[in-house]
Amino acid sequence: KTAIEQRHEKAAKELVPTEPGQLYIGGKWVDSSGGETLTTRDPTTGDILAEVQAGTAADIDRAVEAAWDAYDEDWSTYSAADRQAVLTEIAGRVEARSEDFARIETLDNGKPVTEARIDIDLVIDHFRYFAGACRVEEGRTIPSGADQHIETLREPYGVVGQIIPWNFPLLMAAWKLAPALAAGNAVVLKPAEETPLSILELMREIDDVLPDGVVNVVTGYGSEAGEPLSRHEDIRKLAFTGSTEVGRGVMKNAADSITDITLELGGKSPVVIYPDADVETAAEVARIGMFHNTGECCCAGTRIFVHEDIREEFTDAFIDEVENLTVGDPLNEETTLGPKVTKEQVERTLEYIKAAEGSGADILTGGGAPDSDALGDGCFVEPTIITDIDHENRAVQEEIFGPVETVFEWSDYDEMIERANDVDYGLAAGVITPDIKQAQKTARDIEAGNIWVNTYNQFPAGQPFGGYKQSGIGRETAAEALEHYTQTKTINFNLE
Ligand code: NAD
Repeated sequence: KTAIEQRHEKAAKELVPTEPGQLYIGGKWVDSSGGETLTTRDPTTGDILAEVQAGTAADIDRAVEAAWDAYDEDWSTYSAADRQAVLTEIAGRVEARSEDFARIETLDNGKPVTEARIDIDLVIDHFRYFAGACRVEEGRTIPSGADQHIETLREPYGVVGQIIPWNFPLLMAAWKLAPALAAGNAVVLKPAEETPLSILELMREIDDVLPDGVVNVVTGYGSEAGEPLSRHEDIRKLAFTGSTEVGRGVMKNAADSITDITLELGGKSPVVIYPDADVETAAEVARIGMFHNTGECCCAGTRIFVHEDIREEFTDAFIDEVENLTVGDPLNEETTLGPKVTKEQVERTLEYIKAAEGSGADILTGGGAPDSDALGDGCFVEPTIITDIDHENRAVQEEIFGPVETVFEWSDYDEMIERANDVDYGLAAGVITPDIKQAQKTARDIEAGNIWVNTYNQFPAGQPFGGYKQSGIGRETAAEALEHYTQTKTINFNLE
């Protein structure tokens, strides 16, 4: 066994239970009604980490029923202050075991442990934020004549369904669970089949904090567990994070029962670099924007538009930045680029690079899988920069979801903005310039839900996050999210 394999085997022994992971329904650990399991692998070594249950439509039914029981009999009687106490306790439990959670995330997803720690800090921040936010949720009184009184209440939906992806497993769960619980809902959550372990560990950790059935977790495949959740008639609100393609289907299913839905989908975000930008800063921000989490970020800054006056200088500095990334074992503190989550994702990324190369594009660095015996059977892809590529190429228009950057040059502002907006997505963008007036104009001209100026990938709780165009509907991580998890009741009193 290689040194990396030995280290991962040891960490898995410490952190991953040897028993197959079960479904968490009604506060109990149960097997899937179909009797099937699925395996989750360590992307660094290719080894099987754990077996978990492959949930089915019958399990979703059980979970929805358990959630309604919990809501009707128990959870709906909790005051905002009671819910605040629960969410605060969850934050504390995660904080007390933050290093375990970070390492589980690294084993299951492959992200560098230094980045997994950032995820866990944000998980804690989000539970604390919504613990506070639920105390300020208020209805309104509507001005009216002396003969009537009109008021509104913000009421929870009851039971909500949540489906999440594999790129930030525990953080995506926190973005969904914290506001849903703060607003007073019970939840059925379906984790991604590639990365269920941190969420199962969270449920083991907070089992005694939540009343039975308030959160139910059904692991399983998208088609077998996700699809029935998205179709379920007793789910009153759905929240989905994942690809635009799957999100479209989930939205169609929700339409059948007129279920409210929010969607956080894909992206193809531009980063605009002005000629007055400090080149080193621009290269660093661009590197963080693209290569954080191995490029597996919905908001990754995948299309750089650098002004022609500094193109050459910037490109040299950017290549240096990227070639200085340390590709390797994500449990190693020095590693800055881990493996991709699965072999399929590696193939998909390499195909896009080939499509770009085939069209005559120039690969400035990277371009394949690293040639290293030490990395063994891991799902690694070299950090790659592509230039001289047509903006219509599929590697530019479609989400690659891997460590692959494309670089374009601009001189005419209007043309640049037109190209920056010329994709189906509108999730995020970066602007790099010391001139705040310029930055403000560009931020307004770009069609995207999140713009970072002289920075990238900042996700503090309280700052709304969500997409324009085909990147989604609704906002998470902020007060708006509470509104998405409540519905307005208007009461009109006749005072005559
Ligand atoms: P995916 O769409 O393949 O899967 C997401 C989830 O949906 C998984 O749990 C999966 O099991 C489930 N699913 C699959 N088919 C389903 C179906 N037919 N019905 C119901 N559920 C189904 O996405 P992924 O590959 O796990 O994640 C990557 C995608 O997520 C990227 O497109 C990325 O941009 C997006 N993402 C977006 C955000 C955001 O906030 N906008 C955040 C993270 C990831």
